[in-house]
Amino acid sequence: MTPRLRLAALLCLTAASARALDCSTVKPDARDFSLAELACLKTGAAAGDAAAMFQALSSVPWPPGLTQSLTRAGLRVRFAAPNARAATEQSGVYDWQDKTIYLWDRPRAAVVVHELGHAIDDLLLPDELGSDPCRVMASNTDTEFTGLWKAYIRRVNAYMGIKVDDDGGRLLPISEASARAFLGSYSGSASGWFTDLPLFDDPKNPITGPRGYVSIQEYWAETVQRHVTSSAWLKARDADAFAYIERKLRQAEKGPLETVRLPVDAGRCKNVR
Ligand SMILES: [Zn+2]
Repeated sequence: MTPRLRLAALLCLTAASARALDCSTVKPDARDFSLAELACLKTGAAAGDAAAMFQALSSVPWPPGLTQSLTRAGLRVRFAAPNARAATEQSGVYDWQDKTIYLWDRPRAAVVVHELGHAIDDLLLPDELGSDPCRVMASNTDTEFTGLWKAYIRRVNAYMGIKVDDDGGRLLPISEASARAFLGSYSGSASGWFTDLPLFDDPKNPITGPRGYVSIQEYWAETVQRHVTSSAWLKARDADAFAYIERKLRQAEKGPLETVRLPVDAGRCKNVR
């Protein structure tokens, strides 16, 4: 596309978005908001959080095209924790069943990008709720990414000195509960492993953080986060994952992404992550 045509297309897109949403219809005290509605907020409790969220994204090399793509998809945001446990243990959550990122505390760039990473993982793959198991997240269904995750798990195990007969990858943890049980049986304290070890401070550490050990979705979201906030660091430690996520972020930016239609009929897919 020539620069002139690209500019014309951009202007059209802006005009179309403006036509699609009349800011006077947005209720500042609503429970949650679409990304398009957030851009309208000037008053109310969520306005400050929305400004902080957009400010956090502009403080890192987050591609604005990704925000536009997620806006077109209809991603939603709520500035509250989904439950009391999440409020004390985490700073953000993405729930694929209501296509909403939950942010509390004051949104920090790393948290916002991590949760948007989960949303991209979900929206790159239209939900297939009739299949068995339900197919929801791109990371779960891509053999290439599964291979990258298993290689990461093996690097973590080697770094930690954990000797595991993983039966060719079949015994690798696949959920937070199984990861904690799996680690607990080796270290005696899975939660201590996540919080106490100086994984990030050791310059010889080949690991891109411990959270990817929890699940393949966490590895995806952490890799998106590092790709945006510490790209050279990630490339040096996990070049294949860096290249993979770069491709996926470009794909998400160009679209199309799954279009959010609520409510999602997720009754028989409750345990899918
Ligand atoms: Zn996460």
